[in-house]
Amino acid sequence: MNVVKMQDLDLGGKRVLIREDLNVPIQNGAVTSDTRIRAALPTLQAALEAGAAVMVMSHLGRPTEGQPEDQYSLAPVARHLEKLLGRPVPLIPDWLDGVELAPGDIVLCENVRFNVGEKASDEGLAKRMAALADVFGMDAFGTAHRDQASTAGVARFAGIAAAGPLLVAELEALGRALDTPQRPILALVGGSKVSTKLSVLEALSAKVDQLVVGGGIANTFIAAAGHAVGESLHEPDLLATAQALASDSDRARVPVPTDVVVAKTFAVDAEARTCSVSSVQADELILDIGPESAAALAEMIRAAGTVIWNGPVGVFEFPAFANGTRVIAEAIAESDAFSFAGGGDSLAAIEQFDVAAGISYISTGGGAFLEFVEGKVLPAVAALEASAART
Ligand code: ADP
Ligand code: MG
Repeated sequence: MNVVKMQDLDLGGKRVLIREDLNVPIQNGAVTSDTRIRAALPTLQAALEAGAAVMVMSHLGRPTEGQPEDQYSLAPVARHLEKLLGRPVPLIPDWLDGVELAPGDIVLCENVRFNVGEKASDEGLAKRMAALADVFGMDAFGTAHRDQASTAGVARFAGIAAAGPLLVAELEALGRALDTPQRPILALVGGSKVSTKLSVLEALSAKVDQLVVGGGIANTFIAAAGHAVGESLHEPDLLATAQALASDSDRARVPVPTDVVVAKTFAVDAEARTCSVSSVQADELILDIGPESAAALAEMIRAAGTVIWNGPVGVFEFPAFANGTRVIAEAIAESDAFSFAGGGDSLAAIEQFDVAAGISYISTGGGAFLEFVEGKVLPAVAALEASAART
């Protein structure tokens, strides 16, 4: 990774525009989970202490470009940031034509996604952002896989475009784990659909020693192995793909669960039945891996040198079908293996089972995490590299 790092720059007296990922859940005008804001704090504090004039950008939710709506305003984030930093953080609604700001002060720019051209990485918009500052700092790993005006676009036109400490830390931790991993490497991919994770499954199966599938993804592999899956969420058109993945001798083997937890309806109060993977009835849905499979998987996790985890292995939102995900989450947390985890619902499961402390690295970016694991170059990182090469 050949990028300029913010840590190596003298930011004193400079105008610094920093892209963070402050896309946090908000209810009744208040931030309900501030993990991402806290993650960004050291970057902002370091820039302020160095004497920079700091402008912070972020997106929030998915507003329609050109139509600012209160529910997508970063106002609650500005107030929260104020509390955490112990200093005023004004929210600037119209910031593209310039922001008045003294060294040592900080402002939050209103939601980047209110600007027309953000998603399309419009050049004109990116240039206006770049013109605001002497230094652009990209610090938002979770959006680094998107080529948008405030992530990659601005880096193409900024005088100096640098990687922020949070982005650097995340890239280095993931890079280390994937470049020189402790073997055996176990990848556990769960979640709802094979189709949304096919490329990551393919990339991982060529890289890791063991690939284990769970959740709705496992259902397709179970069907591909010739078992009846009843009404389970699965993708019949991907059976051949799953079969090929599971049986390719150059790739990791993909074991399917031996037992499963089923129900007759997809509901929080549905009655759960545990059975062998070969005895799922036509009117039943597989909603979790069974205890025997969970224990076997926990054993594999204990024996692994590296564990990559994305995706719950069952409908963990329903208590009767949360056991599999809880068992593997706890096994990952207790294992001596270097473990890293990412994905929106996986993070929710980690919070629900309170296992964050035991996981070596929790990636803040779901999509970016998966693309990095696949070996793709993230567009914002590519733009930072190109910028470093120019200077
Ligand atoms: P992540 O966000 O961690 O990448 P996904 O978005 O791919 O994970 O999938 C998470 C969702 O998959 C959860 O909401 C969970 O309820 C669902 N899921 C897991 N197992 C099953 C299953 N057997 N049937 C239906 N949905 C499932
Ligand atoms: Mg998800």
